Amino acid sequence: AKSRGKNTFDFYAPELTQSVRARLTMEGDLRAALDTNQFLLHYQPIVSLNGAGVQGLEALVRWQHPVRGLVPPDEFIPVAEDSGLIHEIGDWVIDAACAQLAQWDARGLSHLTLAINLSPVQFRRDGLVSRIARRLRQHSIASERLHLEITESLLMEQNRHVAETLQTLDAMGIGLCIDDFGTGYSALNYLRHFPIRQLKVDRSFVEDMLHAEDTRALVRAIVLMAHALRLEVVAEGVEEKSQLELLREMGCDQVQGYLLSRPLPAAEIPGWIESQRL
Ligand code: C2E
Ligand code: CA
Ligand code: CA
Ligand code: CA
Repeated sequence: AKSRGKNTFDFYAPELTQSVRARLTMEGDLRAALDTNQFLLHYQPIVSLNGAGVQGLEALVRWQHPVRGLVPPDEFIPVAEDSGLIHEIGDWVIDAACAQLAQWDARGLSHLTLAINLSPVQFRRDGLVSRIARRLRQHSIASERLHLEITESLLMEQNRHVAETLQTLDAMGIGLCIDDFGTGYSALNYLRHFPIRQLKVDRSFVEDMLHAEDTRALVRAIVLMAHALRLEVVAEGVEEKSQLELLREMGCDQVQGYLLSRPLPAAEIPGWIESQRL
């Protein structure tokens, strides 16, 4: 069926044909990747600024492609979302994350939380909550150990099913965080209506903060507002010591970024945590 499709596409504008074909190829490759276990997770430490050290990690998916090598998520998640494969990839991520928590537990790292990224598309299919609950149960993981990073756009959908799903996840004890905070929408009203516990200040703000006075003011205001609403603030993409110091001075709760650690393979996490204790 694929080669027939190819001939049909050849009829149309060649530029379009090429991008359509690339997409179809990637879709096929993604399906194969699911069948042959080509996905893996890397883990980036999230470090507390109030002396508590590493409290948690964020799981970031990668694709070990047989020809292209390690493919970053920005290159395949959009295709996975359009094709619906994100449901299966997302379920794999949930399972792999819970299995990894159980493995770290066995090594005495039972205080760690793990944040996973959820696509808005995953909320459009029923049963997300029960699939998460089943994985937690299967791997004997307390739901408080799992954090879910969601986007502002999901909350702006004003969808009752989404709102109820978030309420249920919160009631289970799962921590909900808003990812890339500040990039999506200027309306902050929605924050009052959802059970959010954490804001992740987008990397672009952290990057501009040192040079741009207005960005610095914005980050300071986000921290103040978040704390007034009893939300925690995590700053993403911290690469320089001066950024970390400024964020500490602003009262930011946690930081994440290359300055502390790049996302690491699971096997390197216990050693990294050990090295922080020294
Ligand atoms: P994100 O959730 O905002 O993740 C942070 C991204 O910034 C990661 O890129 C991380 O490697 C990178 N990063 C961390 N610290 C620094 C830093 O100090 N400097 C710079 N320049 N970058 C830093 P990554 O792993 O390529 O992920 C890209 C995006 O792909 C993620 O952005 C997230 O939106 C998405 N993604 C990753 N894993 C998943 C997943 O399992 N499911 C879904 N739906 N999306 C995922
Ligand atoms: Ca994230
Ligand atoms: Ca982010
Ligand atoms: Ca991002």
